[in-house]
Amino acid sequence: MSAAVAAYDRNNIFARILRGEIPCKKVYEDEHALAFHDIHPQAKIHVLVIPKGAYVSMADFSAQASDKEIAGFVRAVGKTAEILGVVESGYRLLANHGPNSHQEVPHLHVHIFGGQALGKMLA
Ligand code: 5GP
Repeated sequence: MSAAVAAYDRNNIFARILRGEIPCKKVYEDEHALAFHDIHPQAKIHVLVIPKGAYVSMADFSAQASDKEIAGFVRAVGKTAEILGVVESGYRLLANHGPNSHQEVPHLHVHIFGGQALGKMLA
């Protein structure tokens, strides 16, 4: 593991959701990823997509995950958007990393926002 890659906390909330210790409102799941509704939605549709592997950030994921995991995760994001019915109307993807972006949960997650007209950017 490179020095730039953060240590992974196996007891973070999303790791616990993946182990089934905490419930979630599931939208989609396959061998690579799980998608579920955010507990505090910030848009009409607000869903999180997480890889099943132990990665804190996109940097960790791109450095350590196999091509299969990366492809599987990206496909899961696309599939989730389809299931949510937001592809035609449009949606926003967002991934926070580190203190400057206020990343709250240290397991890589991509937010999907949709179901309404969104502002130009989420600050
Ligand atoms: P971040 O700020 O790390 O990008 O976003 C973390 C997101 O996880 C937040 O939008 C927060 O509402 C959501 N979240 C935190 N704890 C839980 C939980 O236990 N269940 C679900 N479904 N979402 C959570």
